Amino acid sequence: MESLIAIGGLVGFAIFCVLVSAAVSGLKARLKRRRTNAKKKLLIHSINDDRCTGCDACITVCPTDVLELVGNKSRVLRFDDCIQCEQCALVCPTTALVMHYQGTKAPAYRMPDLDEYYQAVPGLYLIGEAAGKPLVKNSSNLGRAAIEHMAKTGLRPRPASRDKIQDVDVLIVGSGPAGLSAALSCIDKGLSYAVLEKDELVASTIARWPKGKDCMAEPYDVRTVGLLPVWDSKKDELLAAWRTIIDRKGMKISTRETVEDVRRLSDGRFEVRSSKKPYRAQRVVLGIGTRGKPRRLGVPGEHLAKVAALLTDAADHRGQRVMVVGGGDSAVEAAISLSEHAARVVLSYRGKQLSRCKAKNRQRLDELVRVGRIELRFASNVVEIKPESVSLKIGEQVQEIDNDALFICIGGDAPVKWLESVGVRFKDRAHEFARSATDKLVESLTGPLRETTAEGAGGGAPNPVMVDIGSFRPATLELTSGEIELGEIEEQRTVIRFPVERVRKVG
Ligand SMILES: Cc1cc2nc3c(=O)[nH]c(=O)nc-3n(C[C@H](O)[C@H](O)[C@H](O)COP(=O)(O)OP(=O)(O)OC[C@H]3O[C@@H](n4cnc5c(N)ncnc54)[C@H](O)[C@@H]3O)c2cc1C
Ligand code: SF4
Ligand code: SF4
Repeated sequence: MESLIAIGGLVGFAIFCVLVSAAVSGLKARLKRRRTNAKKKLLIHSINDDRCTGCDACITVCPTDVLELVGNKSRVLRFDDCIQCEQCALVCPTTALVMHYQGTKAPAYRMPDLDEYYQAVPGLYLIGEAAGKPLVKNSSNLGRAAIEHMAKTGLRPRPASRDKIQDVDVLIVGSGPAGLSAALSCIDKGLSYAVLEKDELVASTIARWPKGKDCMAEPYDVRTVGLLPVWDSKKDELLAAWRTIIDRKGMKISTRETVEDVRRLSDGRFEVRSSKKPYRAQRVVLGIGTRGKPRRLGVPGEHLAKVAALLTDAADHRGQRVMVVGGGDSAVEAAISLSEHAARVVLSYRGKQLSRCKAKNRQRLDELVRVGRIELRFASNVVEIKPESVSLKIGEQVQEIDNDALFICIGGDAPVKWLESVGVRFKDRAHEFARSATDKLVESLTGPLRETTAEGAGGGAPNPVMVDIGSFRPATLELTSGEIELGEIEEQRTVIRFPVERVRKVG
C-alpha cells in the first residue's frame, strides 16, 4: 500500500514538473515574442465591424488564441501572443480583417458615397449588397429603411398622371431581398410602385444559390425588421415563404425587364428607362446587388454553353465531369453540392490555399477531398475551355482535363460605371468605415419594432403606439386588419392607441 502511495506521489510530482516546465517555456516563448515584436515593425489588425459577420474563421485559424468574438465581432484580445502569421486575415471571407504595418493606414475601400439613409442624391436610394452592405437580412432591413425614410421626408401617394408614361411613387430596380422588402413597405404604406427585374427569376441571386443551400441569417446580432422575413433555413424554404408573401400581398414584379437609365428631373422626380418602356417616379430604389456583372476569366472558350457563373441545380450534372473555378464560398459550396451527383469534380483555385471561405465549408471540403469526391488543384489557372475538356495550367505544366460543365465562381463587381452614370458617386473610405446596424437604422425612423419572423410577425410595433390624428378626422383612418377597442379612444378622439401597422390614412 505504502509503495503504491509512493509511486502515486512520484507520478503526481512528475506531472506537476511537466506542467510547470510547459508553463515556464510558454512564458519564455511569450516574452521572447514580445521582445522580438518590440524590435521589429509589427503587423497590426484592422477589423471592419460592418463587414465582420462573426463567422469565427479568424478565431478558429489563429494558432495562439489572440482573437475572440465580442458581441459577434472579432476582437484582438491578446496581441502579445500574436506570431504575425497573417492567417486570420487570409481566412477572413469578407476582408473585414486586414493586417498592415503599425504606423501605416489599412488599405482604403472604394465605396458608393451615400448619406446616412443610403441616398446617393435626394430621392435616389442605393441599398443592399451594391451599397456595400451585404447579406440578406441587411437587404430586407434596408428595403424598409428606404421607404420609411421617404415617408418621413414627405413622400405621399400621388394619383397617376394621364400621359402615356407609367407614373409611380417608387420605382424599384431589382427583386432581390432589398427590392422585395422595399416593395412590401410600399404596399404597406399605400404607395404605388413598380419592381423591375432583369432576370427571368424573382430574387435571382438567391434563386440561383446551389440547390439545398443553407441560408445563414447573418449578422446574428442584427434583427430582421424589414417586412421580408429572413431566418436560418434552406434556400427553398426561404424562397417558398417569400413567394407566399408576394402572392398574398398581390405584389407585381416585372421580370426580364432591365433598367437601363435613371435621370433626375429638375422637379426632383426621376425618369427611368427600361428595356421595355419609360417610367416616371417620385423616388427610385436601386437594389441591384453585385452579381449582375460576374467576373470572367478572359480565356478562349468562355462563351461555350457549358460555362456558367452560378450553379442552379447540382442534380442536373449527374454523372458529368465538372470543374469549378474559385476559392470563395460560392465556389466551395458549388463543388460540395456537385460532389453528390457528378462523376468527377475538380476545384481549381489560383491561390496556394483557400483563404476566403467559411470554416464550416472548408471543413466539409477537406472531408470530401480526403475521400476522393473532390480533386482540389491549388495554384492552377484555366488557360482554355474546349467543348469536351479544359486546359489547366499548374506550374509550368498544362493538363488536359475531360470536362462536361464548368462553373466560374469568382465573384462579381458592383457595376460601378453604370451606377456612376445614373448619379451615384464613389469615394475611398477608410478600412474601418462602418454604417450603423440596419435594424437600428429602421428603428431610428419607426420607433421600436418586433422582429419579422418566418411566421410573418411583419415587423409591427412591439406594443400599442400613440397615433396622433389631431390633424385629420377619425373618419379618414381605415383599419387594415383587426378592430380598434372603443375604450382606447382618448382625449376627444384626437389620439387612438393601437399597433400602427393596422391602419392607413385614406383621406
Ligand atoms: C452562393 C452565395 C451564397 C450566399 N450565402 C448567403 C447566406 O447564407 N446568407 C446571407 O445572408 N447572404 C448570403 N449571400 C449573399 C446574399 O445573396 C446577398 O448579400 C443578397 O442577395 C443581396 O441582396 P440584394 O437585394 O442587395 O441583391 P441581389 O439579391 O443580388 O438582387 C439584385 C437583383 O437585381 C437584379 N438587377 C440587377 N441589375 C438590374 C437592372 N439594371 N435592372 C433590373 N434588375 C436588375 C438582379 O437580377 C437581381 O435579381 C450569398 C451569396 C452567394 C452568391
Ligand atoms: S496573425 Fe496569426 S497569430 Fe496573429 S492573430 Fe492572426 S492568426 Fe493569430
Ligand atoms: S473571419 Fe472576418 S468576418 Fe469572420 S469573424 Fe473574423 S473578422 Fe469577422
